Amino acid sequence: MHKNILKWTETHLFTQKEAPVDAEIPSHKLMMRSGFMKKLAPGLYSYGNIGLRAIRKFENILREELQKAGGIEILMPMVQPKELWMETNRWTEMGAGLLKFKNRNDHDFCLGATHEEAVVDYVRHDLKSYRDLPKNIYQIQTKYRDEIRPRFGLMRGREFVMKDAYTFDMDQAAALKSYDDMYKAYQRIFDRLNLQYRIVQADAGNIGGSQTHEFQLLAEAGEDALLVSDTTQFAANVEVCPAIDFETPKAGTMPQVTMEKFETPNQKTIADLEKFTSVPANQLVKTLFYSANDGTNAKDSQLKPIAVLLRGSDEINPIKLKNVLGLTNEPRLLSDLEVKEVSGAHPGSCGPVGLKIPIYADTGIMHLQNYILGANEDHFHMKNVNHDRDFKITKTADLRMAKAGDKCPESNGKLVSFRGIEVGHVFYLGKKYSEKMNGVFLDKNGRSQHYEMGCYGIGVTRTVQAAIEQSHDQDGIIWPKAITPFHVHICLLDPKDQASTDYVNQMAKALAEKNIEVFIDDRDERPGVKFKDADLLGFPVRIVVGKKGFEADQIEVVDRKTKEIFKIAKLDVEKKALELL
Ligand code: ATP
Ligand code: MG
Repeated sequence: MHKNILKWTETHLFTQKEAPVDAEIPSHKLMMRSGFMKKLAPGLYSYGNIGLRAIRKFENILREELQKAGGIEILMPMVQPKELWMETNRWTEMGAGLLKFKNRNDHDFCLGATHEEAVVDYVRHDLKSYRDLPKNIYQIQTKYRDEIRPRFGLMRGREFVMKDAYTFDMDQAAALKSYDDMYKAYQRIFDRLNLQYRIVQADAGNIGGSQTHEFQLLAEAGEDALLVSDTTQFAANVEVCPAIDFETPKAGTMPQVTMEKFETPNQKTIADLEKFTSVPANQLVKTLFYSANDGTNAKDSQLKPIAVLLRGSDEINPIKLKNVLGLTNEPRLLSDLEVKEVSGAHPGSCGPVGLKIPIYADTGIMHLQNYILGANEDHFHMKNVNHDRDFKITKTADLRMAKAGDKCPESNGKLVSFRGIEVGHVFYLGKKYSEKMNGVFLDKNGRSQHYEMGCYGIGVTRTVQAAIEQSHDQDGIIWPKAITPFHVHICLLDPKDQASTDYVNQMAKALAEKNIEVFIDDRDERPGVKFKDADLLGFPVRIVVGKKGFEADQIEVVDRKTKEIFKIAKLDVEKKALELL
C-alpha cells in the first residue's frame, strides 16, 4: 500500500457517539470521539494513529521553519539528575510541578519539565570561543509537569510534547537579534496554520528573563485573558497588562475630614458595604493579607504578613504583586484565622490603620480621599480615612487587574478583551543560566564572558488541540489543511462492488502520487454511519463513491468546511479534489 493511503479496515480506529464526561470543551470532546487519543490516566494520553499524523505534521512545520532560523535539532534526556537542577536552584523553585523520584542507588532525579539546565550542560564544554557563537539548538520532546489540575485533554496535560529551542550569543545585541529571528519564525509557523492568533506581552514566570511574548490562539475556551488595544498594536496577557483609568480625579481637591469609626453590623463584602453606606465600590477600599515569603526554602514557612489595599471595584493581580515583591512564586493569601491574628478582626472588617506590617497600595487608591475601610474590629469600619495622615503606605504600585474598557497604555484608545490559548512563548533570558551554570566563552579580547541566552517553547500537542478548538462545527473537526491527518476522505459505499472499488483504488493511487494523503472508509457500514464519521474526522475533502453514483457517472465531492456538495463526472473527480485543497 502507498504510504499516502490508509484504509479504515487496516488501521486501529474506533469512533464514539458520545464524549466522556470529563471532556468539557469542544476540542477535547471531538478528539475523544474521533479516536484521536485515549486517556490512560488524568493528564496522560495515548495518541492514536490518525492523531499522531497531525502531531507529526505540525512537528515538521516546526522543523522547516526553525531550520530557516538556523536551528539545530538535538534530543536531550527526559530523566535528569538533581545536581543539575541544584545549580540554578530550580530543584526547589519549580515546586511540586517538577516530578521527582529516586533510582535504585538512592540518587535523586526528576522528569524534565523544561530543559534550560540540560541544554546549558550540553553546550558548556563545547562553546569555548566567540567563534563558536551564535548557536540555536532545539528539540521536539515529551515534557512532564505535575500539573495540579490537568484538564481539557492535551491543553493542560501532565505529559505533553513541546518544541523547545535555546539560543546562545556573545552579547546582548546579538541575543536580541536571535530573539527577533525566533519571533519571526513563530509568526511563520502560526501563519501556516491559518488560524487566528495574537502576540502578547507576558509574564516570565519562573523561567526568568526580561523580554517575553506569548503566542495565543484565540478561543472562547482559552485559559488566558488577553487585553488588546482598539487603536494600536498593543496586546498583553492580563497577568502583566498595566491598569490605567481613563479618568483620574486629582487628589487633594477636597478638604480632609476627621477619621471616625462607625458600626457596620455583618457588613462583610464590598457589595454589602456599598448597599449599607450608599458609597460606590470604586470609592471604598478593601484590604487583603498575604504572606510575602517565597516558599522556596525551609525558612519561608514562617509568616511574613503584608497588607494590600485596592479600591472595592478592583481585583488583585497576584502576578503583579509577586513581581513587585520580587518573589519567585505567587504570595499566599492568609487564612481567616491568620488575618485575625495579624489585624485583630476577620476579613471584611480589616484595614491598614494601626497595622505594624508593610502596606502595599494599588495606584487606584492614590486619588481617593476621605474613604471607608475596615476598622480592625469585627462589625466596624472607619470613614474619612486618608493615607499619609492616618496610615503610611510602604509602597504604591500597579497591583490590580486591568480590564476591558481601561485605557490603552500606549494611546488614548480602549482595551478590548479576548480569550486565548497560549501555544508559544519566547523569552530573552540574558545571562541568568550561563552565570549560574558557569557557561563561558573567550571574547575577541581573550576575556572570559558568560553567554547571552534566549529560550523559546511551543506546545506541540496543545497547538494541535487549540487548532481544533478554533476550527470545528457541531458535526466534527474541520482540520486546517497544514496539519490535517489526511487531505481526502473517500467513503466507499459498496466495498463488495468490484468496479467502484477498483475506481476508488485507482483514484487514491493517482492522488497519493501527487502527495495527497487519502483515507478510505472501506468498512461494511451504512452510508449514514460513514458520512457522520467523515464529518467527525474532518478531513478537508470528502469523496463519496457508491455503486449507483458510479454507474450514473455522478460522484459526490464535498467540501468539509462549507459542506458544499459537487456532483462530478468520474473523470473530473481528481481535478475537483485538487481544486478544493
Ligand atoms: P501555562 O501558563 O499554560 O501553564 P507555561 O507558561 O508554564 O504554560 P511554558 O513554560 O512557557 O508554559 O512552556 C512552553 C509551552 O508549552 C507553552 O506555551 C504551552 O504551549 C506548552 N505547555 C505548557 N504547559 C503545558 C501543559 N501542561 N500541557 C500542554 N502544553 C503545555
Ligand atoms: Mg508560558
